[in-house]
Amino acid sequence: MRLLVLGPPGSGKGTQAAILSDKLGVPHISTGEMFRKTIRNGSELGLMAQQFIHRGELVPDDVTIALVRERLSQEDCRAGYLLDGFPRTVEQGRAFDNMLKHLGQAIDRVIYLDVPIARLIKRLTARRVCGVCGSVYHMENKKPKTEGICDQCGGPVEQRDDDSEETVLNRLDVYNQMTKPLAGFYQKKDLLCSVSGDLSIEETTRIIFQSCLRRDN
Ligand code: AMP
Repeated sequence: MRLLVLGPPGSGKGTQAAILSDKLGVPHISTGEMFRKTIRNGSELGLMAQQFIHRGELVPDDVTIALVRERLSQEDCRAGYLLDGFPRTVEQGRAFDNMLKHLGQAIDRVIYLDVPIARLIKRLTARRVCGVCGSVYHMENKKPKTEGICDQCGGPVEQRDDDSEETVLNRLDVYNQMTKPLAGFYQKKDLLCSVSGDLSIEETTRIIFQSCLRRDN
């Protein structure tokens, strides 16, 4: 199974991708998480990526495409994978098409999580994440049991650098201009399955399975 999860920042891509990857037994590949790891490691790539991420802009296509190409060539991706946050531009979508052709692979489905913009701003600014394992929390409806400490691994729960209100507004702008056109790109290929991401986590997962992942879909 090869899946893409597409949607605006804060639509629940990471949360749904983690659940789906667990249920389907395929690796969850998040380019955002890969970049955050390079930043934590203090690598040259991390230093470069941080400049863009901090401003709510996209990391340049050539860098992102090379990172994904390398990741998809790894052994654990042979039987399938779930991509979260890639592609994010039509240029990346075209490069990804070429990668797939080269690997003799095809995508099964593109799951598009649709959430109204006002909800996204609220969700993103209230979001907190574990700096170690990436578990996601929300200051209103999903607080960690002990304040500031991850329930899963005990790591520090903090606000992502790019979840400040100013950066969030820029990320939504960038999404509308650069990423949203990908919905049409995959619609034309008859791969897009649009689902409301404005429901509970469990309900969204249930609808994804029902509407996007049934064999006859
Ligand atoms: P995410 O965790 O998916 O919200 O990504 C966080 C940030 O990482 C984004 O706002 C971008 O700056 C960067 N990023 C993640 N994926 C990509 C991508 N496919 N292309 C360019 N930049 C990306």
